[in-house]
Amino acid sequence: MNYVEETRRLIARYDIHARKRFGQNFLIDNHVLDKIIAAADVCRDDFILEIGPGVGTMTRALCEHAGRVLAVEIDYDLVDILERELVPIYDNLEIREGDILKMDIGEIAENNNAGKPIKVVANLPYYITTPIIMELLENHAPIQSITVMVQREVAERMMAEPGSRDCGAVSLAVSYYATASLEANVPANCFIPRPHVDSAVIRLNIRENPPVLTDDENLMFKLIRAGFGERRKTLANAITNSPELNFSKEEVNQTISLAGIDPGIRGEKLGLDDYARLADFFSKK
Ligand code: SAM
Repeated sequence: MNYVEETRRLIARYDIHARKRFGQNFLIDNHVLDKIIAAADVCRDDFILEIGPGVGTMTRALCEHAGRVLAVEIDYDLVDILERELVPIYDNLEIREGDILKMDIGEIAENNNAGKPIKVVANLPYYITTPIIMELLENHAPIQSITVMVQREVAERMMAEPGSRDCGAVSLAVSYYATASLEANVPANCFIPRPHVDSAVIRLNIRENPPVLTDDENLMFKLIRAGFGERRKTLANAITNSPELNFSKEEVNQTISLAGIDPGIRGEKLGLDDYARLADFFSKK
């Protein structure tokens, strides 16, 4: 099926205008679509959660390849069109209206695939890419993989090595919960309207066990956010000033030193193992 032709037909028929506030950029390239389906390794056994189906371009391809598809869309007008145009064709498709960030993704994953891990596939709305990825990673839901189109710059940040210029809190979160691979680079002209930046497809395979162990995962991520939140400050100052943490300057200096780390270092220079060790020492305070 020529999915993109179907999308163009719906856009013309319903006079659809992309809504900027919902980050709507519709994919209009069949070749990229094939790459996403292949990267996600979609097969008949799979339950797929699609975030933001839009006009249903990728939704059609997912329904053709997967066992079941649940597509969550915030824009009521698009939900209405998908209900009329796609649901009658695909008996393995459910459309749910709403904001993915207000839904219990853990519950969706638990209740829809007989306890087996689900796959998430999406061309994500760029304005909330990181919150969605963090929500998917942090809630420990049964998810096998997340294959998503994101801005190229965001993909680079997610995959950045510790200590590199692009590395941020999200890079460490991704490497704690998953292994990441770049699946395709996608130029801006593959979408309507054409965004200002290029995109990339990345796949995150969720790890069964994290690569480092810590006594307090929650505290480790607070320390990571502190360390990367104030890049110009020393690690000691960043932790002391963090609104999420409540340690005195003396405690902070002493604890960082006890963990064998220089309190004057910048937080962005540390890797996951350093933050795991810091969390263990701070958790004893
Ligand atoms: N999947 C379609 C495609 O590839 O052409 C559309 C992708 S477009 C980049 C992002 C989609 O996510 C839009 O349809 C938008 O309305 C939807 N969206 C935006 N914010 C959302 C949210 N918080 N929850 C669910 N869907 C959302």
